[in-house]
Amino acid sequence: MAGNYELIAKKMGVPWSEEIEKILKALYSDEEAQILLVFNGPYLDRFTAQKIAKKLKRPIDEIEQKLIEMARTQRVFSATRDEVTTYSMFPLLPGLFELYFSNHERALKEEKDVLRIFTEEYEKYYNEGNIVNTFRSSYPFMRVFVEQDAIDETISRGKGKLVEVDQEVEPIKNRILPFEQVKNLVEKSRRISVMDCACRTHMKLHNDGIPVNDYPINVCMTFNTFADYALENGFGRELKKDEALKTLTAAAKAGLVHTTQNVTDKTTFICNCDRDCCVMLRGIRQFNDPNVVATSNFLPEYDKSNCVFCLTCIDLCPMQVIELIDEESEEQRISIDFDRCIGCGVCAFNCPEEALTMVKKYDKVPVNNMMKLMTKYIGGKTN
Ligand code: SF4
Ligand code: SF4
Ligand code: SF4
Repeated sequence: MAGNYELIAKKMGVPWSEEIEKILKALYSDEEAQILLVFNGPYLDRFTAQKIAKKLKRPIDEIEQKLIEMARTQRVFSATRDEVTTYSMFPLLPGLFELYFSNHERALKEEKDVLRIFTEEYEKYYNEGNIVNTFRSSYPFMRVFVEQDAIDETISRGKGKLVEVDQEVEPIKNRILPFEQVKNLVEKSRRISVMDCACRTHMKLHNDGIPVNDYPINVCMTFNTFADYALENGFGRELKKDEALKTLTAAAKAGLVHTTQNVTDKTTFICNCDRDCCVMLRGIRQFNDPNVVATSNFLPEYDKSNCVFCLTCIDLCPMQVIELIDEESEEQRISIDFDRCIGCGVCAFNCPEEALTMVKKYDKVPVNNMMKLMTKYIGGKTN
């Protein structure tokens, strides 16, 4: 029944191919595929087991048991509010891929063959450009945060002015708005969980279990209902707010980039992405496509008089857009390719001197909720 699986791929918004067919068939039985087809699309509807059973004309107990098992094994998303559990369809990314590979220990124990097929076929699918095509939109699904300490430095050097949380102002150059500070997202959250980064886990599995780099792996954070989902399904570790902030600082120190959904409020995760494995950052470099992720509103400003030419920024820049020029001459300086800079602040945060400062250059303000994000993201897709 390729027909049902092809329809699922369509609802998930990913191109149909031999690889995606193998992935979906490994993950979903015929019966589970029929359950998925009840949904209109990823995160678009939240149905109770009763509603799904009614739509399928099947006994509620049987469907409920299936859905509980599908949620436990990362096939569907579940959330419980006021003692009512609802289920939603995952997109391939961000959702199914991230949660499945973050919880790969379960898959290793229970369904090694499914994990192997997902790992191998996903890599082929990725290298054919399908994942980057999926993310390509004039309104990117994800956005980059500037590292928090880099913003704090900007303010203390008098190069940016803070706008307090919930204060209503029009975006003005050099005004740092609440959504631009990653710490506000952490402080406003009800519950936080940290889990393994799916992209680095996937690449490690693809590389016969050997990590492809030394970046920290247990740094992928989910919030609120997504934290509930991970913790209630037996993976992830709950973090207090101060622990979450420390984890973010440690990630930036290692050269990882904070990313989240391209909205101002109620984001459900913060990724800490690396240049080798991340679906987006790797995609920008591998497919030379900067529209996979929305850059921050900031760019680094360089002050040669403070530079000691330690080359830390060159070493850590996740986009590899910094270089040393006119070496061994009076003109020696670092040069940044701003066309490919994503404004993450990893360079400024890790500069041991005051030679780099993140300065606000743009006034982009994302939409304020997930529904608007989905509408703009899907509406702006070119594939
Ligand atoms: S690399 Fe980034 S996008 Fe991918 S799972 Fe890790 S933290 Fe998330
Ligand atoms: S130069 Fe590199 S490290 Fe610095 S903000 Fe741009 S992408 Fe990030
Ligand atoms: S990290 Fe700072 S001091 Fe070192 S080379 Fe870069 S700009 Fe200069």
